[in-house]
Amino acid sequence: MALANTRALVLQSFPYSESSKVLRLFTLEHGLRSVMAKGALRPKSRYGGVLEPFTEGVATFYLKEGRDLHTLSGFDLLRSRQALGRSLAAFAGASLVAELVLHADTEEANPEIYESLAAAFDAMAAAGDADEALRAALTGAWTLISLLGFEPGTDHCVVCERPLVPAEPVRFDTSAGGVACVRCRPAGRIIPAASRAELHAMVRGRTPEEPLASPGLHRALLRVFLETHVQQDRPFRALPLFLDQMGATVPSESEAEGDGDGEAMDGAR
Ligand SMILES: [Zn+2]
Repeated sequence: MALANTRALVLQSFPYSESSKVLRLFTLEHGLRSVMAKGALRPKSRYGGVLEPFTEGVATFYLKEGRDLHTLSGFDLLRSRQALGRSLAAFAGASLVAELVLHADTEEANPEIYESLAAAFDAMAAAGDADEALRAALTGAWTLISLLGFEPGTDHCVVCERPLVPAEPVRFDTSAGGVACVRCRPAGRIIPAASRAELHAMVRGRTPEEPLASPGLHRALLRVFLETHVQQDRPFRALPLFLDQMGATVPSESEAEGDGDGEAMDGAR
């Protein structure tokens, strides 16, 4: 039995018995782990009510390899990120990016994923309005999708592999998992150059500074991509709320072009 002492992000927290909590922690050094925080629900708990989702701290716990549940013995708060609970857009986005990491369910350390997740939480917490929070959330989602091994192709045609010129409009090839030139994919919704540039940036962790050129298109892309490539048989529970929040900021153009389902992306398929 080893004593682990590592930075950790609380991704989920639920009550266990009358006085304790079970947490799903994404830790810097030991990946995703479940820990029992004994007494955390007591009014005078030494954890002081900080063991809530999106909180970051230094967690100390006894790590028994082969066990599913470890015992937390300390949690020194680094950031509570309470702002994420005050905006529905930020909350929905934070829940989605947290769920992406929960979904991957790996006990392997991955500092890049850890820092990207923490940065996404911070960007959403610092966002000045819902639109900015949603852009930060989308960026976090695409960055994590890529780091988890599902990066969509954005700078070349996924069919003929030709590099795309910056101003070139494309279409999305859902099953191939990236953009395709209009010659290789003759039907379906056009992704204008500006939207492709936004996607390309977000996949690399850069949040677009201006409002998205076509939020409805990004909403559809994320949904179709997660459903086709990432979710497998476990749909993302946080996705409907996030899509609702994105829909709430989208002007009527999205309705005119459909609700962003696979047909809207894939056209004649
Ligand atoms: Zn092509």
